[in-house]
Amino acid sequence: MNKMVILVVEDDAPVRNLITTTLKTHDYKYLAAVNGESALMEASTYNPDVILLDLGLPDLDGIEVIKKIRTWSETPIIVISARSEDSDKIEALDSGADDYLTKPFSVEELLARLRVALRHSEAMKSELSANQSVFENGGLKIDYVSGCAFLNGEELHLTPMEYKLLCLLAKNIGRVLTHTYITKNVWGSSWDGDVASLRVFMATLRKKIESGPDAPKYIQTHVGVGYRMLKVEENIKEIREDF
Ligand code: CA
Repeated sequence: MNKMVILVVEDDAPVRNLITTTLKTHDYKYLAAVNGESALMEASTYNPDVILLDLGLPDLDGIEVIKKIRTWSETPIIVISARSEDSDKIEALDSGADDYLTKPFSVEELLARLRVALRHSEAMKSELSANQSVFENGGLKIDYVSGCAFLNGEELHLTPMEYKLLCLLAKNIGRVLTHTYITKNVWGSSWDGDVASLRVFMATLRKKIESGPDAPKYIQTHVGVGYRMLKVEENIKEIREDF
């Protein structure tokens, strides 16, 4: 039995029904909203664990809904939109969305993204109570107090910039971070030159933590958009659950 509650915001009835039927079939509890105002109302009243949000709503733009929700809540938001341009994804992510799905989407993909977001939601709750000083993800470990990072028990020799990048990705695990978000957080500014430098630092960081350039285990690239740290152990668990 799933105790997590998902808020579905979608004005298009067939799409909304597809999503809610999928959730029902997989034993998820859900709430539905057909416009931006009711989405904000439901989100503030019921504090859902994850929000699935359409961007093209009849009253408010979905981007506005994200910005408003972010003023009081860190609940993971997955944008589901017909807008497929990179600039739209970037705008949604920079406004505070965690992930995006482009219509038309497969039900399997929706469920996979949802599982990631629900784990993120759960992890945030336990982190709030534990206030962890050590981060662990598969063979990767960061000790925030000593400022050291380890891979499979061996200390990594990272430059200060690589360490900063790794910590930023780790603290936002499961979430797609845009180039702008990363450069603003690491350099305090964002212009084209920063994005070019970011690619270089990211390449050197990956050389140190990934076993090969073709099989990224920890850092996923979203071409034209940004990067995301993947949850390694939970990927393994997910495979086991499928057996
Ligand atoms: Ca719509």
